[in-house]
Amino acid sequence: GLAARVTNVSKRYGQGDGAVLALDDVSIGVRRGQFTAIMGPSGSGKSTLMHIMAGLDQPTSGDVWLGDTEIGRLGDSELTVLRRRRIGFVFQSFNLVPTLDARANIMLPFDLDKHTPTSDERAWIDALTDSLGLTGRLTHRPHEMSGGQQQRVAIARALASRPDLIFADEPTGALDTRTSREVLELLSRACAEYGQSIAMVTHDPVAASYADRIVFLADGRIVDEMAGASAEQI
Ligand code: ADP
Ligand code: ADP
Repeated sequence: GLAARVTNVSKRYGQGDGAVLALDDVSIGVRRGQFTAIMGPSGSGKSTLMHIMAGLDQPTSGDVWLGDTEIGRLGDSELTVLRRRRIGFVFQSFNLVPTLDARANIMLPFDLDKHTPTSDERAWIDALTDSLGLTGRLTHRPHEMSGGQQQRVAIARALASRPDLIFADEPTGALDTRTSREVLELLSRACAEYGQSIAMVTHDPVAASYADRIVFLADGRIVDEMAGASAEQI
């Protein structure tokens, strides 16, 4: 497992009068095996925080830690390898490769790493695609699938290499209730049983209730925190 932490992170977009302070002195950690939901109004800085925690974007000030490493000290190629091996992403826009079928999209992290999956890894990927209801869709390309199916392929790809950290931006936004529930159960099991850490942006209190804790952002600041189990209060 790998913990992630940001300390005193601020992020400013633009200059002068047009500048936006998207994050204002935020400190937050995601422990090993912890499932954190991030909620807050549109424009409150949720996506910016996730991108910075994942090393996809740089803060204007503050430190970003992945495990024992402050990522500002890493070169681009070291950061790329760290991201590819240890971090999984589920974006709102699915970011699937249109020319590859579902299976090839799911296996992309292995192929980029020139790593042939072991039999244990293959068993995990089969279990994963099965529980996501993708078994009959593996030879379909993205344009031959519904939005919900594409989202499940993106989730399978993010989990396939068993990354220590998973960042998910509205992962259930395009899914029906039943599939949402299966995806959320899969994510919470990944944390509880395998020590993976997840940070998930969501608008949905039901989705947030699967998390261990919920962090609320407003105007670029953390304004509240509660246990996931108390999500019915939202
Ligand atoms: P959320 O994910 O909560 O909707 P974001 O992190 O996307 O919030 O955005 C926070 C603020 O930063 C918003 O005011 C948004 O308009 C602004 N913002 C986000 N990305 C950019 C960017 N690339 N350039 C300029 N402003 C941005
Ligand atoms: P079963 O409960 O039938 O064993 P699972 O889906 O729980 O099926 O697991 C299948 C395989 O994948 C097992 O080898 C298990 O160790 C592994 N596995 C399941 N979930 C994860 C996960 N989140 N991270 C890493 N490995 C996992």
